[in-house]
Amino acid sequence: MQEKTVLYLVPTPIGNLADITLRALDILKSVDVVLAEDTRTSGFLLKHYDIRKPLQSFHNFNEHKVLGALIKRMQDGEVMALVSDAGTPGISDPGFLLTREALKAGLTIECLPGPTAFVPALVKSGLPSDRFIFEGFLPHKKGRQTALKTLAHETRTMIFYESPYRLQKTLEQFAEYFGADRIVSVSRELTKLYEETKTGPVSELLQYFTEKEAKGEIVIVVAGRPE
Ligand code: SAM
Repeated sequence: MQEKTVLYLVPTPIGNLADITLRALDILKSVDVVLAEDTRTSGFLLKHYDIRKPLQSFHNFNEHKVLGALIKRMQDGEVMALVSDAGTPGISDPGFLLTREALKAGLTIECLPGPTAFVPALVKSGLPSDRFIFEGFLPHKKGRQTALKTLAHETRTMIFYESPYRLQKTLEQFAEYFGADRIVSVSRELTKLYEETKTGPVSELLQYFTEKEAKGEIVIVVAGRPE
């Protein structure tokens, strides 16, 4: 018999509050506690949907500390939902550690399908989406050059998360390591009022974002090296 699910990983909107599934709302209404990366951000979402649930902090800075106690509570039957500030928990967000430990403890978990920023960015880039790699955030310092050198050989479409403050530098390095003609697609503020996607050779996008300061949240999709 299937054991009772005690941990749900619940994706939440990446901008547009309407992007939450009916099932996600049902689960959030049914659990005993919502573990949230930022209780204020998630509190706002729950309030919007008139859901009243106890919220508990679970983020990169306390996950190791609270992990054992959370597993114990789930073993005792408490049902929890994990949400991050936006998108799918575990995708460049806390979630991996809790999932791994819950599975190790033999607990039953479920991850609901739902919003995540890289999928719309990839699909609307027009770059091949049959095979791709997700790199998340490039290392800021140590390991950055090595990663770029390795990725210069990558033939699949590559996906990166980036902050607006580093976009310029990252595009300059893409031009340097991948070539100025490599096609890239920059998606900003997906699902939000000022959503924008620009696709073209990296040299053109560099010029565009030199003239127009990039703001908001960003996904960069890069064509793989031609085979
Ligand atoms: N868990 C999230 C997901 O499933 O996509 C990712 C969280 S990560 C901490 C935040 C990064 O995701 C941002 O810096 C940006 O690169 C990307 N991102 C999140 N929301 C976005 C949006 N609305 N438009 C473009 N990029 C977004």
